[in-house]
Amino acid sequence: MSPTPDTQIRAWREQLAEQRPRLTEVRSETEAAIHRLALADAPDAATLGAARAALRERHKAIEARIDHGQAALTQAFAAAVAEASTRGDAAGARRLRFQLAEERRQSEPLRATLRQDGLLLDASLRAADARALFRLAQKEWRTPRPCLKCGARIAVGALSAPTAFACGSCGAVQTERPGPASARYFGGEAIDGLATEASADAWVALDDAEFAFRRLREPLAADTDLLTSAARKAAEAWGAAARPLHPAWDDAAVAAMVHQKVEAVVSPLTARAGWRAAVGAGLQAAAAGRTAELLALADQERVDPAAFVEAICVSLHEHGNRDAAWQALAVLHHVRREKAERNQWMLDRIMELDDDLRTR
Ligand SMILES: [Zn+2]
Repeated sequence: MSPTPDTQIRAWREQLAEQRPRLTEVRSETEAAIHRLALADAPDAATLGAARAALRERHKAIEARIDHGQAALTQAFAAAVAEASTRGDAAGARRLRFQLAEERRQSEPLRATLRQDGLLLDASLRAADARALFRLAQKEWRTPRPCLKCGARIAVGALSAPTAFACGSCGAVQTERPGPASARYFGGEAIDGLATEASADAWVALDDAEFAFRRLREPLAADTDLLTSAARKAAEAWGAAARPLHPAWDDAAVAAMVHQKVEAVVSPLTARAGWRAAVGAGLQAAAAGRTAELLALADQERVDPAAFVEAICVSLHEHGNRDAAWQALAVLHHVRREKAERNQWMLDRIMELDDDLRTR
């Protein structure tokens, strides 16, 4: 027999409570590693790699515990909901579903910390290593290289890529490569870490914006704009911090990297752009109950009219526009040629929409 929801809720809350100090522990362990990396006289890629892997593994283990607890919780509720439904207790089943959603939401702050700590602590590990590397790289830049022909000293400065130098004494040309610390410093990961750390607030804001966006079933252009703007803010803050750190990165190179970072967030959103535009275009007609106009629009966009009007209902409702959603439901009743008495049918649908929103 599966445990009752109440027993499982207690277990779930205990499990969540246990993860909080674990997260704090991982944070202080990582901060200690950050400190050590920053002070290292001989920073090496393996030490950084081990610290990043440890952070990832520890976070993965915490996430797995939360997932595991949530699965057990969901199972216990599923059994209770099935039982209530068998008894014909629809209200009880509904109440249980709400309760489950409420309990699941308890893990959201922990999951957000996991995502955001994961991003920022990883950036700080790389940034700390970058600072130690920078000190070593500076020594490389100050050390002249001997001319292979006459032995005169050739000053190379901050080398980020193989560069040809003409000897000041004999004129011979030879190619000099960045020293090991410079090569790693300019390799990309280090500077990305420094720039991400410097723009941390904007990346946290982007994560919050992504979370809010993913909660919507039928996001509108305004939602996409909000997310795009958060992505642009983070990427541009990153670009402003990264630009002065690499001698070979000019405005165009940084702009291309910024663009790529924005695209990484935004491009999955364009997948249903046509559908979203159609839904957006139909909102006003639906809110005003203009059925013919909606049907013409569905025809023009070559979408199934019932699915189209239903999406509009969902979108209006989840954006808090309840009266308009009600009007759209009247249209849906007509489009679907529902036999059921209209008012009762609409009441049932609005309750379904409410339930769906509450249990996401
Ligand atoms: Zn020479």
